[in-house]
Amino acid sequence: MKMRAAVFEGPGRMVVREADLAACGPRDIIARVHACGICGSDVRNFRTGLKAEVGAQVMGHELTAVVTEVGTAVHRFRVGDRIAVAPDVSCGECFYCKRGWVNLCLHHRMVGTHWPGGFAEYVHLPDAVLTHGMVHHVPEKLSLDDAALSEPASSVIAAQQNAGVGLGDTVLVVGDGPVGCLHLEVARARGAARVMMAGLTRLKEAERFSPDLLIDAGTTDTVEAVRAATGGLGADVAIVATPVAATQGQAVRAVRKRGTVVLFGGLPKHSPESSFDANLIHYGEIVVMGAFSYPAHVHEKALATIAAGQIHPGMYFNLVVGLDQVLEGFRAAAEGRALKVLVKP
Ligand SMILES: [Zn+2]
Ligand SMILES: [Zn+2]
Repeated sequence: MKMRAAVFEGPGRMVVREADLAACGPRDIIARVHACGICGSDVRNFRTGLKAEVGAQVMGHELTAVVTEVGTAVHRFRVGDRIAVAPDVSCGECFYCKRGWVNLCLHHRMVGTHWPGGFAEYVHLPDAVLTHGMVHHVPEKLSLDDAALSEPASSVIAAQQNAGVGLGDTVLVVGDGPVGCLHLEVARARGAARVMMAGLTRLKEAERFSPDLLIDAGTTDTVEAVRAATGGLGADVAIVATPVAATQGQAVRAVRKRGTVVLFGGLPKHSPESSFDANLIHYGEIVVMGAFSYPAHVHEKALATIAAGQIHPGMYFNLVVGLDQVLEGFRAAAEGRALKVLVKP
């Protein structure tokens, strides 16, 4: 079958055109895409190319859809089901999968990279995605627009779960993009007493989420501001949601002894090195941890959290575009003109 899709054809090139939709095998499903968020990684890949040397592909991995066709051997879904799809697919067999750390799978693959994604009229979800990926039913009271935020929310929830953010905590979020704002909302939902946020370019957007302290990193020293607000101690947890190495060093200086620093954002591929005061980590017994993706059950948790009203998708998606305006959407996301862009094919 043919469909319309935004096809990435190489760095800087994406064309909205007719594309092939694979036939529905006995263990596959096909769904009509309702909405698909533009992720920071989509913007980056659009500029620099997809992972695994994938040349041409339909990108998009924060999608919701309505099932239109179900393979004869599939029992979990029916035509008409409302679903949310998250991209990561594990192999189920490697060293990490066997230990339950599926997000660290040695053969990690993604919808929108290894399989066509959500910037299209339809998405074909094959057996591997249904069995080792993340396709979940959207809770009844949750709209398919709002459910599209479940993917980015999932990595945020998993990171805070691993960092143990909880009751009474003072949390510093470095980064005022959509992911920073998600960290703020999730920290609150987990019981943090105070959430501070340091940002540079999107402070106005961030302010709408009412952080207890909003630090303009362009004019104010983040570390000093956090120390001043914590009686000199520092935050319990600092989460770095920027691609800037220097902010990682700041986070180490902004937490208290035995505090936790979460490196949530990756650094640019060509300059992944960072420097920080190792003695602070050593003498202060500070934990510095990474965060990447999440297991499938966390995606279900994200859907439940949004349905419960603890995350507010309407505050993120401030630009909605059709498939034909997808390039305009990418531009707006790249320039930070919208906190989050939703494509509705
Ligand atoms: Zn994403
Ligand atoms: Zn694996």
